Amino acid sequence: MSKVQSDVKSEKRSLIINGERVAALSYTPLYSPYSGEEIAQIAAASKKQTLDAINSASEARSIIGNMTAFERAEILEKAVTILRDKADEAAKIIAFEAAKPIVFAKAEVARTIETYKFAAEEAKRIHGETIPFDAAESGAGRFGYTVREPIGVVGAITPFNFPMNLVAHKVGPAIAAGNTIVLKPASQTPLSALFIAEVFEEAGLPAGVLNVVTGSGRVVGEAIVEDDRVNMVTFTGSPSVGIGIRNKAGLKKTTLELGSNSALIIDKDVVIDSIIDRCIMGAFSNQGQVCISLQRVYVHEEVYEEFVSKFAEAAKQLKVGDPLDPETDISALISQDDTDRALAWIAEAKEQATIRTGGKLTGRILEPTIITDAASDLKVSCQEVFAPVVVINKVGSVEEAIGYVNDSRFGLQAGIYTNNIKNAMQAVKKLYVGGVIVNDVPTFRVDQMPYGGVKNSGTGREGVKYAVEEMTEMKLVVWNQS
Ligand code: NAP
Repeated sequence: MSKVQSDVKSEKRSLIINGERVAALSYTPLYSPYSGEEIAQIAAASKKQTLDAINSASEARSIIGNMTAFERAEILEKAVTILRDKADEAAKIIAFEAAKPIVFAKAEVARTIETYKFAAEEAKRIHGETIPFDAAESGAGRFGYTVREPIGVVGAITPFNFPMNLVAHKVGPAIAAGNTIVLKPASQTPLSALFIAEVFEEAGLPAGVLNVVTGSGRVVGEAIVEDDRVNMVTFTGSPSVGIGIRNKAGLKKTTLELGSNSALIIDKDVVIDSIIDRCIMGAFSNQGQVCISLQRVYVHEEVYEEFVSKFAEAAKQLKVGDPLDPETDISALISQDDTDRALAWIAEAKEQATIRTGGKLTGRILEPTIITDAASDLKVSCQEVFAPVVVINKVGSVEEAIGYVNDSRFGLQAGIYTNNIKNAMQAVKKLYVGGVIVNDVPTFRVDQMPYGGVKNSGTGREGVKYAVEEMTEMKLVVWNQS
């Protein structure tokens, strides 16, 4: 048993409301997706406790509202320092509750640190602009400007797949902008969120600014979405839950960062050996449980066979195993249900397409799976697989590939490898997605870039500066000088 496992096993974890550890009426066991062992007992908040947390966040608005940008940035900087000191512990928590291989868990912690660092910097440059009122005939004698004010209470609902960095994408900008937060983490990954709340407590964040309410989406999530004191809901997760939130949120501001079936185009002039490693990372890191995971590849017929055989060979080299083993590339999916779903979709594909490698379980772990010649209406093509499964198809031109990429209900990011500038320009212009990545996989993301999708991939943008914009309201000030 690992040290982290023995540290957390059977420990009861409370809610964090107004700086207090609050017990719940009931607790839910949290199991390791890899070993199936119980890791902890997690408080399942009631609706009443969720409303208490919203109340606490509502009352703390004036506390953070009276803090200067300098003070907010200082707290974020302190959190960065504490996280750096505790990086190993943080990575083990992620590896343990999400079965994320430790190498990727460490990478997530490094990104989390960077996200809070960006938030500390962004806290110092929140400002509006001056307006040239006399440009209007009736604007003479007026002087004015805009300011950006905190939006208020931010309800943050987060998924399991990046349990620390996606919390950071909500908590960091919210604090930078002077808001308070009610955070509801995914039921499978509450420990990362509770850990972060403790980091902020140590960093000196006043009580009530960050409240963590664990429990089910239906009880806690819905109470957050429906409460009028919550000014904004920032949600990352599946399209079905996101659409439900949007329908219930009324006029409340919502940012929805949803799923995708991200695609990559490979043109005929590409040196295949130079892109295999990136494609493997894009398709299989975190077992494919990444919203911009590489799921569909459209390869020019002239390099198709070479790509498929080299990519399949590299996929076979990936090591499946214990997430805490530094040699492990692929571990268990987040739940047995998700494993069963992925296997069912592969079985459907088997009827009409070719499974080039994988498609089976090793213990509880789904092997990296490559499928070729899959029709666009198969589930592995048109839905979000969220598993280590990639579909590769042959195309006659980049133009044809663009058509296939756009033939999706999703539109988060897409990639194209090409040395032909005209084809790259055409892809940039015609791909209907939130981000086009030229000469890299669609999986590329750094944490300050504007990130978000079109169609069923969501609305609004994250990336610290852009999230701060979403989490602030513009106020106009006009001075009549005449
Ligand atoms: P999920 O099932 O939609 O859950 C996300 C969060 O919503 C969890 O905290 C969940 O709580 C909560 N929730 C469930 N039902 C709810 C309801 N009725 N009202 C309010 N909240 C509710 O998603 P997931 O399986 O954790 O994450 C995978 C999905 O996230 C994929 O689709 C992936 O593409 C997407 N994702 C998108 C991005 C992006 O930036 N675009 C990034 C990462 C992931 P419980 O856990 O208690 O059910």
